[in-house]
Amino acid sequence: MSSSRETRSRTLTGIAAAPGLAAGPAAVWRDQTVTVPRNSGRQPATETARLTAARAAARDEIRRLRAKVAAEAGQAEAAIFDAHEMFLDDTALLQHAQQAIETGVNAEAAWADAIEFFAAQLEQLPDPTLRARAADVRDVGGRVLDHLLGRRTAGVQLDVPSIVVARDLAPSQIASFPVARVLAFCTAEGGPTSHTAILAKAWGKPAVVGLGKAVLELSDGTLVQVDGTRGEVVVDPDEQTARAFSQRRALAERQAVSERSAAADPATTRDHRRMEVVANIGAVEEAAVALEYGAEGVGLLRTEFLYLNRRTAPTEEDHLAVYTAILRAMGSRPVVARTMDIGGDKPVPYLDLPKEANPFLGWRAIRISLQRPELLAVQLRALLRASPGHDLRIMFPMIASPEELRAAKAELERARRDVASAGHPVAISLQVGMMVEVPSAAVLADQFAREADFFSIGTNDLTQYTLAADRTNERVAYLSDACHPAVLRQIRSVVQAAHAAGRWVGVCGELAGDPDAVPLLLGLDLDELSMAPVAIPAAKAIIRRWSWGDAQQLAARALDVDSAMAVRNLVRASPPA
Ligand code: PEP
Ligand code: MG
Repeated sequence: MSSSRETRSRTLTGIAAAPGLAAGPAAVWRDQTVTVPRNSGRQPATETARLTAARAAARDEIRRLRAKVAAEAGQAEAAIFDAHEMFLDDTALLQHAQQAIETGVNAEAAWADAIEFFAAQLEQLPDPTLRARAADVRDVGGRVLDHLLGRRTAGVQLDVPSIVVARDLAPSQIASFPVARVLAFCTAEGGPTSHTAILAKAWGKPAVVGLGKAVLELSDGTLVQVDGTRGEVVVDPDEQTARAFSQRRALAERQAVSERSAAADPATTRDHRRMEVVANIGAVEEAAVALEYGAEGVGLLRTEFLYLNRRTAPTEEDHLAVYTAILRAMGSRPVVARTMDIGGDKPVPYLDLPKEANPFLGWRAIRISLQRPELLAVQLRALLRASPGHDLRIMFPMIASPEELRAAKAELERARRDVASAGHPVAISLQVGMMVEVPSAAVLADQFAREADFFSIGTNDLTQYTLAADRTNERVAYLSDACHPAVLRQIRSVVQAAHAAGRWVGVCGELAGDPDAVPLLLGLDLDELSMAPVAIPAAKAIIRRWSWGDAQQLAARALDVDSAMAVRNLVRASPPA
């Protein structure tokens, strides 16, 4: 799209990364190019000392940013800075820089070369998550370089509340913005799982990513409207567009306030069908947030956070402390803990996971757990020890065949015996279920229903495997819409098989909190929806507006259209009667 200023009210389309509407002046964050001097005439020992001092200063800054993000966005979001701190001490990186220093190169050039060497190596890797780490290495590298060159590294100034526009934003750049003055984020690059998306969601700021170069041609102060729900940015809106947008925003704000005020009430349809609405959480702090937003329990506790960004595997006591804190916060409400779902896009360096051509089709989740049973046993023992007095449920991720479920249940029984023989009490009744996120599990749901107490459908993975579209690859993001009828039909058959066997079924993928999908999932007869805490008030409000009968009719029609977009259009054109 042309960037000429006389074309008014241009619309740029990107990827919806964090929901919400915002309008304001653009503050364009431009990448700085730096020329690094190579020789100083100083002794190598002096250069080594300068590099050490710059790393120490960078470490202090990273720790301050970590504390800021932990307080404002949560521990899980702050964990990225632990990885940054680890890069600062990376032996291979330091050796590379030191060797150059010994040959007479100054600290800044030696460090800049080492960073570029490692970032370029990461960029060659097939795994998109590891490739994305190159940006983290450059981010940390730039921070150290700033200190060596004496450049200003203070937080970004925003004189007025602004829409931040950038090529892409590294976590430490995002964390440097004064949150209160950021209205929204727009980036030229990045996908829906980029750091910008994760932090923007945690801060409740709308974000649109992957907008292309055109967005970088904006001048500072240009008025832009950001629709983080649709993934659209309107530049220089004319009066009529601006008026319509501000009406939509005012309406959305009023609606959000009223939804929040009813968040603690149950979600019951007009014809008295109750839907359980629970939260997806990934850290202790999020349990309290979930309750604030009206969660009736936890439908997915992603336990991976316990394994990431550390140098050794968590001990049984590490696990126990976390599970006990979460169960205490939730009281008698149900908490579904998913056993470790690592591998795929969640690398864990100390486990020495082999590099694979197709990590999502490879050694991940239950596959690792069953081949490294000692790791799983530590987690299971801790879960069992934390269970007395609570409604803890355990589920296994990525189950593809019934033997895997049987083997996982056998591990749980072994852990139960170990815990009992060590004299620890265990909750008497404990439901054991599985995630349905591999198409084979959906197809064989009737067989699984004989052995699982419940199903939780992971639509994020179920969609990537059904449509054969890597969930982290922005080029195939157009295929990764869980509203696709091929996914909805699998949900329907899983629910039917489960209910025939007297089992309950939930959805815990992103689809559960998607406003378009909520009436469909109601109509498909799900028992529970589990979603990000912030999505709960709106989902409950949608359920209350529908009758179950109407939702069933809508779902039946949705199964017969031929694309995710057609499903969404159908829902949008069918407001509750
Ligand atoms: C899913 O796949 O839908 C899911 C909830 O699991 P995760 O997103 O953690 O893979
Ligand atoms: Mg999954």
